[in-house]
Order: sequence, then structure tokens, then C-alpha cells
Amino acid sequence: MSKNTKPLACISLDLDNQWSYMKIHGDEGWDKYPSYFDIFIPHVLDILDELELRITFFIVGRDAEKEENSKYLQMITDRGHEVGNHSFNHESWLQTYSKEEIEKEIIAAEKAIEKATGMRPKGFRGPGFSWSIDLLKILHERGYIFDASTLPTYLGPLARKYYFMKSDLSKEEKKARSELFGKFSEGCRSLKPYYWDLGEGRKILEIPVTTMPVFKIPFHLSYLMYLSNISRGLMILYLQIAVGLCKLTRTPLSFLLHPLDLVGGDQITQLAFFPGMNIGSKRKTEVFKKVISILKRNYRLVNMTEFYEYYKNVPAMKQPG
Ligand SMILES: [Zn+2]
Repeated sequence: MSKNTKPLACISLDLDNQWSYMKIHGDEGWDKYPSYFDIFIPHVLDILDELELRITFFIVGRDAEKEENSKYLQMITDRGHEVGNHSFNHESWLQTYSKEEIEKEIIAAEKAIEKATGMRPKGFRGPGFSWSIDLLKILHERGYIFDASTLPTYLGPLARKYYFMKSDLSKEEKKARSELFGKFSEGCRSLKPYYWDLGEGRKILEIPVTTMPVFKIPFHLSYLMYLSNISRGLMILYLQIAVGLCKLTRTPLSFLLHPLDLVGGDQITQLAFFPGMNIGSKRKTEVFKKVISILKRNYRLVNMTEFYEYYKNVPAMKQPG
């Protein structure tokens, strides 16, 4: 297959910082917003350069606002990547927010991200795949071209159970998070890009994080990293089945990365006790390169705006809910 006839796949990275992992885990000190950007950002930019990838980084407003982070965030756009909005406070239950609260979150993050990177975000991904109809309407009002907050999987309730088990949250905190990672019905959502119909002629393109067609089980990098720790061959087989099913069902691919997929406890010693952080950066980088080589064989890898440009003429419209 020649280079031009390959379908597109977009790559994005949710730039969750050290504090947001600590917050999710219920660790003290997260509210001082400790950062690992000084280590992680130069590390990931070098890997992406080596692989000749230009991707979309979803940035949290709270990080963009901090003076000491701006030098690292600026590197992202300087090196040819684009930025998206990942909310201001990274709270994974945006569906419980009022319209005013959501508006505040989006605008504050957008302003801070533009100031730190020189680029205004055009796309949004909710933390923990959370979103609401009000949120989509606000994105549309503010000129966003896509939302990327949905993860069509049946595994949400299971992931939530696991998360509660592994954290030290109080009963109240668990209640606030009772819809974390979504309901079982999330699994029924489409994997292909479509427009949310917001009424009065308003619409916004949804680019779901791709899960395995038919089975609706995730295969973003965190899952592949987990599998590769059991067996490298199993990980490759799983990814090949996922890619094969995407091609068979003509599902365009949106592939998601997280910082801890690419660095280990050897570099980020503050999070060395976290699941999967016993694997070193070198090994994680090798697995990532293997994954990218498989994706490159099947797809032309682009950022989310280029992906949007290609798929923006899809006719499918869906009612949010
Ligand atoms: Zn996140």
C-alpha cells in the first residue's frame, strides 16, 4: 500500500501531571501541584521527534497557569505539536457541574493554555472521559471544532470499582465520583467520528477514543503497556487484532497516550510506588516504539486537527444523552 492510500490515525496525549495522579489516588500534598514536566516533557518530545510524530497534547489549565511550567509547555508548540483543552482542575465528574461551573473551567483553562503555549486550543477532552451536553454547547459557542471525551466501552463500571479499591477515598468522595468512568451504556456509543446535534443548527464533531470494534474493550497505550508486562507477544497480538477489526469495520483510529506509559519510576521517583512504575523508561519507550511501528504500517499518523479536517464531512448526527 502506498503512503497516500493509508487511512489516518490520530495520536493524542493527555498531559496529566504528578499532582493529578496523587489526587486520584488520594495522596496528601497534591494541592501544592507538584510537577514532573521538567523530566517528562523533554523526554517525550525527544521520542516523538525520533519517530517523526506530530501529535495533540491535552493540557490541564492548572498546570498552564503556573509560571514554572510555561517553559516546558512552550516546548510542545515550539516542536510542532498542537495543544487541546483538558479542563482547568482535572476533576473527572464534569457531568455533575452546572453550566456556569463548566463554562468557568473551559475558559480558565483555554486562557492559561494559550498564554503558556501561544496556541488557542480547538479541541477538548474531559478528564476521566467525563462530559455533558452543556459542555458540548459551550465548546461550540467558543469555536471548538471537536470534542474527544468519549471512550465507548462496557468496562467503565469495572474500572471505577478497581479505582475505589486501590484508593484511600472517603465515603463522601466515592459518592461524588459515583459516575466516574461512565455507565455500562457508554459501550453502546459509536466508535466512528460523528456530529453531536446540539439543536438550532449547532453541531460539534465527536472523535471517540477508539476501543476494539465489536468487543468495545480499550487498547490505548496504558492497556498495551500492561499486557506487554505479561507478554510482549500477547500485547502485539492484541494490538494486531484491534487494528485488524478497525480496518475491517472501517473505523478510523484515535489512539491515546498518557505520561506514565512513557516514563518509569527510575525517572519519576516521586511516583515510583504507582502501578506499572516499576517498569523503567527505557523498556516503556521500546514498547511504545513497537506499537508505533505497527500503527505506521497500517496508518498515516497525524494530530487531531488534521484528523478532523479529513473526517469533518461525515454526515452522521447523534442526539447527546
Ligand atoms: Zn487526564
